[in-house]
Amino acid sequence: MAKYTLPDLPYDHGALEPHISGKIMQLHHDKHHRAYVTGANEALDALADARARNDFSRTAALERQLAFNVSGHVLHSLFWQNLAPRAGGEPTGALADQLRRDFGDFTRFRAELVSAAATIMGSGWAALTWDPLSKRLLTAQIHDHQNEITQGGVPILVLDAWEHAYYLQYGPEKKTYFEAVWNVWNWADAGRRFESVRGIDLALKQAA
Ligand code: MN
Repeated sequence: MAKYTLPDLPYDHGALEPHISGKIMQLHHDKHHRAYVTGANEALDALADARARNDFSRTAALERQLAFNVSGHVLHSLFWQNLAPRAGGEPTGALADQLRRDFGDFTRFRAELVSAAATIMGSGWAALTWDPLSKRLLTAQIHDHQNEITQGGVPILVLDAWEHAYYLQYGPEKKTYFEAVWNVWNWADAGRRFESVRGIDLALKQAA
């Protein structure tokens, strides 16, 4: 059976300094992300085991465990690729055009994404997502790893707002971290991602 695996970071632990410390990247990738991969595989095994025993008494709990851990795995895999050393600035091309269309301008998009990150109650993520139904970019607050995301929406750029993502370096000054990350956004990656998902068709009938 296919298993989830931890991808290598596409750069060294310290490559995003001074914006994100090497120690945070080491713990975040090697420990936290790995734990979600392990949890996802354990949930997969437990579901298969229960199925084999014809025991469906824990389906809800196991599927919740699966959703939490797989979503954590997906978001962290995406987050690492969304970041790059000596990056930042602003996107170009089709993604830049779409951001202007849907948010007015880049500055307002940035403010909305930072606001989404800064106002999460508890643990979660802020995300830039593509909604294939309305064909527009949206920002989203994702609680934990999986809640309050629109179905069918595809994350393009994600910002980890869990305390483990910044506390060691920024302490309670999380807004400083949410601003610092704009120095290391890999807009080339986000742009490629947008190009690959903008044609998704959910095949849902819409009123004319
Ligand atoms: Mn994280």
